[in-house]
Amino acid sequence: MSNPSARPGRHRVVVIGSGFGGLFATQALKRADVDITLVARTTHHLFQPLLYQVATGILSVGDIAPATRMVLRKQKNVEVLLGDVESIDLAAGKVTSRLLERETVTEFDSLIVAAGAGQSYFGNDHFAEFAPGMKTIDDALELRGRILGAFEQAELSDDPEERRRLLTFVVVGAGPTGVEMAGQIAELANRTLAGAFRRIDPRDARVILVDGAPAVLPVYGGKLSRKAAERLEKLGVEIQLNAMVTNVDVNGLVVKDKDGNETRIEAQCKVWSAGVQASPLGRQLGEQTGAEVDRAGRVHVNPDLTLPGYPNVFVIGDMMSLDKLPGLAQVAMQGGKYAAKEIRAGLDGAQPQDRQPFKYFDKGSMATISRHSAVAKVGKLEISGFIGWIMWLVIHLMYLIGFRSRLSTVISWTVSFLGRGRAQMASTEQQVFARNAIDVLQEQNRTRHATESREAG
Ligand SMILES: Cc1cc2nc3c(=O)[nH]c(=O)nc-3n(C[C@H](O)[C@H](O)[C@H](O)COP(=O)(O)OP(=O)(O)OC[C@H]3O[C@@H](n4cnc5c(N)ncnc54)[C@H](O)[C@@H]3O)c2cc1C
Repeated sequence: MSNPSARPGRHRVVVIGSGFGGLFATQALKRADVDITLVARTTHHLFQPLLYQVATGILSVGDIAPATRMVLRKQKNVEVLLGDVESIDLAAGKVTSRLLERETVTEFDSLIVAAGAGQSYFGNDHFAEFAPGMKTIDDALELRGRILGAFEQAELSDDPEERRRLLTFVVVGAGPTGVEMAGQIAELANRTLAGAFRRIDPRDARVILVDGAPAVLPVYGGKLSRKAAERLEKLGVEIQLNAMVTNVDVNGLVVKDKDGNETRIEAQCKVWSAGVQASPLGRQLGEQTGAEVDRAGRVHVNPDLTLPGYPNVFVIGDMMSLDKLPGLAQVAMQGGKYAAKEIRAGLDGAQPQDRQPFKYFDKGSMATISRHSAVAKVGKLEISGFIGWIMWLVIHLMYLIGFRSRLSTVISWTVSFLGRGRAQMASTEQQVFARNAIDVLQEQNRTRHATESREAG
């Protein structure tokens, strides 16, 4: 398929993914003499760092997921296509994507692959059914339904043991997402829902944060890890460290301590935030170029973010592995801008062998723990508590896409952080149960396509 506004002979850039990497790369090519096709499997750009606020009723979907087409509507050199990229043929310069029954082939001169990462269950994919991860809007809405649904079911139960199970929430993984999630479930139970039920007291809820590592927020280390743990404990979160999850089922999970003793926790609602697996497109690229692909599925890239033998193909963000760079939004954004800059330079006659290596500028990282409390690390500077939280608010607002999203987010935050209310507490049966139906449908489609292509070939 060719871009309808494309001009013959103009350089064609295909961008895969509308996340931080893909969107920033596309925007950085705004004034370049190129035709861009952005292909993504969702119609929106997603601000993943605030997904947990959608899951816990603070923000709406629209606040953190603007439609990509609308964000880019004034950028005339780009067209946005909805589709799941199934294959990339580097030698032929073609990307094949699918939307339902429709297959689309898009040709490129330069390619930017920014398909991100999904949740990893470390080989135990069956855990996903009982402990959803937090990577997509669907995940966040499903979790919202599961969290609020557990309180509703507890209100209806007369069996003390069942109530206890329904009011026990386990978050697996004590990285930033797990810490933020555990803190927000505790605040939901202790502040927002307090007094809203007649038969149960939501403040009886147990929130347990489990991790195999010996510290909360291990990447921050030392003082900040301790501060975060103290703050969580003050909120009533129980922290279990050095604890590996060995099984998850509908009614609970099993954790193994460092001495090998296993304990079962009865809990209806489990949240998985313990690992990532890069897009499977990385393996395809590895097979075609000989680039190494690590256990998390990330592709080892050259210092200029390209693949061996393909100076026109950039892999950026969570999909790439280079110098042990972390899976952070800034790495993806800066990678996107770098790839765009090198494509522009190429149009002006610069040679790939003269490129300066990609250099990541670390602007620091931060995580909220609860209302009025966050930890932040900027270079050697370590900040925690209220000042950290104000920094967190300002920085997240700065990077939200679009004025309307910022405005509505400020209003929702004012309601939630100054008062007790949360504006987004609705959830539907469909949000909780549709995933299983969609999984079955997708599996059927995959099997059918595989059979059809076997028969055709
Ligand atoms: C819950 C959560 C909290 C986080 N918090 C922070 C934080 O506080 N600070 C921070 O710096 N980072 C945070 N991160 C990490 C940050 O969001 C990622 O590092 C960043 O999004 C990576 O950008 P990306 O462009 O590589 O991938 P993504 O932003 O994940 O985008 C990938 C894009 O590719 C599309 N896609 C995937 N596969 C296909 C396919 N086959 N075909 C077509 N399209 C496809 C997706 O739909 C999406 O548009 C968080 C991540 C999560 C999940």
